Order: sequence, then structure tokens, then C-alpha cells
Amino acid sequence: MQLARTDASIATFYGVHNGLAMGSINEAGSEEQKQKWLPPMARFEKIGCFGLTEPLVGSGASHGLLTTAKREGDSWVLNGQKKWIGNAPWCDISIIWARDVADNQVKGFIVENKKTPGFSVEKIQNKIALKVVQNGLITMKDCRVPEENHLQAGKSFREVAGVLRMTRYLVAWEATGCQMGAYELALKYAQQRMQFGRPIGSFQLVQDLLAKMLANITACQCMVARTAQLHAEGKLGDHQPALAKAFTTAKMRETVAWAREIFGGNGISLDYDVARYFADSEALYSYEGTYQMQNLIVGKAVTGFSAFL
Ligand SMILES: Cc1cc2nc3c(=O)[nH]c(=O)nc-3n(C[C@H](O)[C@H](O)[C@H](O)COP(=O)(O)OP(=O)(O)OC[C@H]3O[C@@H](n4cnc5c(N)ncnc54)[C@H](O)[C@@H]3O)c2cc1C
Repeated sequence: MQLARTDASIATFYGVHNGLAMGSINEAGSEEQKQKWLPPMARFEKIGCFGLTEPLVGSGASHGLLTTAKREGDSWVLNGQKKWIGNAPWCDISIIWARDVADNQVKGFIVENKKTPGFSVEKIQNKIALKVVQNGLITMKDCRVPEENHLQAGKSFREVAGVLRMTRYLVAWEATGCQMGAYELALKYAQQRMQFGRPIGSFQLVQDLLAKMLANITACQCMVARTAQLHAEGKLGDHQPALAKAFTTAKMRETVAWAREIFGGNGISLDYDVARYFADSEALYSYEGTYQMQNLIVGKAVTGFSAFL
């Protein structure tokens, strides 16, 4: 929340490295793999990324990945592509989720980017959001990974879901912080910008926008704090993080749009910073599972019917 209050890109970099990449090793790795990889990653000596999404498979990742893994002796051969992978163009290791052709189950692999023939990354250009984060299109052509880099405790998509449960909950904190930063900029601007000989913050309609922004932020803070309590009590299922991610990102979109509105024409320029929050919020709304997918996870939990499997 505090990182995103200043910059959602930095929060995203950290979320990908710490939450998604380290989280995958923690969730699906053996004790030996955790001991080998997590300490240097915690010290930022090795930076990681998380490759789940593919050019043709996004929301439907749990339904079938196209990237394949084939066991050959003491190694695995990976083939396929991963799209939108944060940190991928420059990081040290990539967690790649692929479908084992032998049993059709999803398995995780630690790929050492620079040491693995057949592994290449193209930086995605022309993004409107999270400009500081480099996202990559990974291509794997007969990319050979030793068995020791196969995440040993991962047997199916269940481990991926376990990682995403935690990181979606963290995105809800990010979304809360992002709107806090935008609100603070808008409040300051409203107190300083003069129109009709008075600060615009003295107009009732501008105060109405600020009050609505504050209400959104307060509601989101309460929700993530409650989700944290459930986590601490060991009661976090898939649906509470999904509910929190959907609610906070939707409220964030409203809040950052109102903040931009208070800046008038200046809100369109990157020079006034509020536009950065406005653009970045679009990425937070869609990544780590879209708004619709989060609500379908909640819908499944409350009705007992899955609308997507
Ligand atoms: C900036 C950024 C960073 C990212 N970083 C990573 C990363 O580090 N690692 C990674 O693996 N991925 C990453 N992603 C990918 C991200 O998680 C996906 O973009 C997201 O899950 C949506 O998948 P998609 O883009 O393929 O959209 P699609 O799945 O094609 O969805 C398109 C639209 O259809 C809707 N839709 C799809 N299915 C249903 C349904 N059953 N019911 C109702 N609506 C539906 C969606 O909600 C959405 O509105 C990143 C994306 C972005 C933009």
C-alpha cells in the first residue's frame, strides 16, 4: 500500500519478485529449492518473474495452458510462449508454469534466463501503464531445464492458485495505496488552484468529489485490514482475496478518475503526476485476474456453482 501510494510500478515490481516469483518457490518448491533460491532473492541478488499468462490463454489459465513440459531423462523440455511477464526482459530467473504432456497437470519450473538455450524474451513496447515495469513476451523453443529446477512440491494448478490467492490479496493493498496517492495530489491541487478568485477546493462540488474519494479509500482500507485479519487467523480462502481485489480495484478506478478530474486539463499531462495514477490503475484492475474473474470466484463460493469451469 505504501509503495503504490508513491508509485504503482515499484509496487508491481516488488509484487512480481516477492509475491509471485518467491511465492511460487515457497508454495511449490522443495526445502532444498527454498534454501537455494529464496535467501538470494530476499537480498535482491537474484530477481525473479512469474510466467503464467500466454498470448492465447489469460483468464482461462486454469482450464489449459498451451506451454508444454516433457520429461526427458534428467531434464524437462519446455515449449511455448508467455505474455505480459513483469521483470522478464532483465531478471535472473523465470518461474514458468507448463502443462506436463504425460499427465496434463500444470507444473512449475525455475528457468535461469541467461543460462538456458532456447529461452528468449522480447520487451513489450507501447504500454500505457506501469511504464517503469518491463513486461516481456517469453518464447521457449526446446528449452531444457534440469529436474533439480522442477518445483518438486507442485503437482497441479492448485499450487498456482495458492500463489495467486496471496498475490491478489496484495494487489488489493496496492489498489488502496494507489488511490491514496491520487487523493493526496488532488487535495493539494484543490487547495492551491485558483478559479473565480478562490481555491477550487472551496467549491462544494469539488469538496463532494474529495469526500467521495475519501469514502472509497476508507472502505478499501477497512476491507484489506479485515482480509489481513482473516489471513492471520489462517482463514483466507480463494474468495476473500478475490472479493478484495475486485472491490478495491473498482473503487480505485473511480477515485483516480475523480482525482484526475480535479486537475482539469492539467490532469491530462504527465507533468502533474495524477495522470500516472490514472493510467497505472488500469493495469492493476486487469492483472492477476480481471474484475470479472474475481467476481466469478466469489460467485462460485457463494452459490456453489462455477461459471467458468
Ligand atoms: C501490466 C500487466 C502486467 C502483467 N504481469 C503478468 C505477469 O507478471 N505474469 C503473468 O503470468 N501475467 C501477467 N499479466 C497478465 C494478466 O494477468 C492477464 O492480462 C489477465 O489475467 C487477463 O488475461 P488476458 O489479458 O488474456 O485477457 P482475457 O482472458 O482474454 O480477457 C479479456 C476480457 O474477457 C473477460 N473474460 C474472460 N473470460 C471471462 C468469463 N469466463 N466470464 C466473463 N468475462 C470473461 C475478461 O474479464 C476481460 O475483460 C500482466 C498483465 C498486464 C496488463
